[in-house]
Amino acid sequence: MPRLVVVSNRVADPRKTAAGGLAVALADVLNNTGGLWFGWSGKIVEPSAGGRAVEGELRTQQAGPVKLVTLDLSREDHDAYYVGYSNGVLWPVFHYRLDLADFDAGYIAGYRRVNQLFARKLQPLLRGDDIIWVHDYHLIPLAAELRALGCTQRIGFFLHIPLPPPLILAAIPGHDWLIRALFAYDLVGFQSEADHGHFCRYVEAEARAQNVGEGRWRAFNRTIQAGAFPIGLDVEEFNALATAPDARDMCERMRREYSRRKLLVGVDRLDYSKGLPQRLRAFRELLQRYPETHNSATLIQIASPSREDVSAYTDILHELESLCGSINGNYGELEWMPVRYIHRTVARSRLPGLYRASRVALVTPLRDGMNLVAKEFIASQDPLDPGVLVLSRFAGAAEQLKEALLVNPYDVEATANAIHLALQMPLEERRARHQALMANIREYDVHWWCDAFLDALVKAQAEETGTPWLRL
Ligand code: ADP
Repeated sequence: MPRLVVVSNRVADPRKTAAGGLAVALADVLNNTGGLWFGWSGKIVEPSAGGRAVEGELRTQQAGPVKLVTLDLSREDHDAYYVGYSNGVLWPVFHYRLDLADFDAGYIAGYRRVNQLFARKLQPLLRGDDIIWVHDYHLIPLAAELRALGCTQRIGFFLHIPLPPPLILAAIPGHDWLIRALFAYDLVGFQSEADHGHFCRYVEAEARAQNVGEGRWRAFNRTIQAGAFPIGLDVEEFNALATAPDARDMCERMRREYSRRKLLVGVDRLDYSKGLPQRLRAFRELLQRYPETHNSATLIQIASPSREDVSAYTDILHELESLCGSINGNYGELEWMPVRYIHRTVARSRLPGLYRASRVALVTPLRDGMNLVAKEFIASQDPLDPGVLVLSRFAGAAEQLKEALLVNPYDVEATANAIHLALQMPLEERRARHQALMANIREYDVHWWCDAFLDALVKAQAEETGTPWLRL
């Protein structure tokens, strides 16, 4: 079996429990092939007095059979590549928020510089038969930069966030450069059929690519493979978490505390893509329309801090605080607070307990690549008395989780009605829906995702039909 090389913006030590399902799944495959994981260390080196910072020095750490190789970035590169282009342009636009994008012309140069730095530092570490798997929007041009250095290895790319429709994508200055860079890969993977469809429509319309069947596209003298590979949970790992003392203790405490009430739960990173204000408005509408929910329903909304130096995030934070305050002020009573809003990260070991104690989960992003919280909620339920998932139709997960109550999060009234339905759903229906959802997340778990992508990558060697890959 050839060695697997994973490249992502951040590298996680797979031996640490906080690493999460993706790190654990990748580590599984990396372990089997004695692989290498390459990425940014998360550290910024400041320029020394009078000179430029020394960036790009490699640090190597052995994590069992897996080699972790990381490099630091200079402040200038970090600000342009990470804060600027990745999170100020690609994140908002790929989540359909052109209004929040900051198209500063300097960012793209930094983005390109860091991708070149990654390629220059990675190339000498590669073996001829390595399989390289590049992750996410920070590193779209990496394969093109590696090809420019002469790398001929099989390289796959997986986009963890959504890909918007062609006309939204086309609003990015340099969009043609970005999408052309994808043709340096052998395989390009998306979270959903919707995203894959957007890619197909874009390359057909904007790049005049030719569809040569079975998910293959010819353009820029190369024929590459593209497809949807929805990411899943490590269901076994999550089950183990759910039955461990931390989660059980959490579940019992929540049940005791809220014994007279039905709990609704939301767990998100505080991000404008998550639809948090819309969700709170829907909850307010529920209280307004259905007075029987007063005193009987409590929403616990956990929103972990995220990118707080960006103004769009502080705006959403203030909007959320004000909505929670006004709902509690207008509807609360001495012995009942309708919303408990917690601006913090909850320990991963306690999350399954919180999910299991809740009757309803509100997973209502305005746009999301997949949304793993939806799957974690399902995996944590008691199959004999499961809770109900209210899920945005705009989350990638909605393509798979059809037995959830699917809602349009922009439609506050319809969402309120769906929450009401969820709160009242009879046991038999809850069980039937949960059983079907559970079957889906078991079948399409994170190991399925890894295997499906890597199988496709091994089979998908791009054909060069003309002059070799030209420098971008
Ligand atoms: P995103 O990657 O956009 O944050 P996902 O729902 O796909 O969205 O993944 C989020 C992951 O982070 C999940 O595993 C979830 O359990 C975890 N998470 C999100 N919010 C919190 C929080 N407030 N506290 C603890 N973990 C969280």
